[in-house]
Amino acid sequence: MEETVRERIVRLLEEAGHPLSAEEIAALLGLDPRTGAKEVYTHLSHVARTVWRRSGGRKQVFMEPPSCRACGYVFKSLNKPRRPSKCPRCGSQRIDPPRFIIMEV
Ligand SMILES: [Zn+2]
Repeated sequence: MEETVRERIVRLLEEAGHPLSAEEIAALLGLDPRTGAKEVYTHLSHVARTVWRRSGGRKQVFMEPPSCRACGYVFKSLNKPRRPSKCPRCGSQRIDPPRFIIMEV
């Protein structure tokens, strides 16, 4: 079951042609709009490892980092894919979420 969701995430990220946010992925997969994005985030680290391993290091999940819509601050040092709740520079909660895509390295 979980494997299926992960496989569908891989396919979406390969075929989208542009980076997708967890919210967009959740909507495209038809997941519950209230919990879907959170679920996608929990899958993404595993998806990244799978893509890397299965392609022999030729393909990789790239993350476009989240940024603050108010001041432009970019969250460059996230160690895990997630949507920060608040900007550390200006305190705004208008955060543009991270976006993901699979590309050849
Ligand atoms: Zn800010």
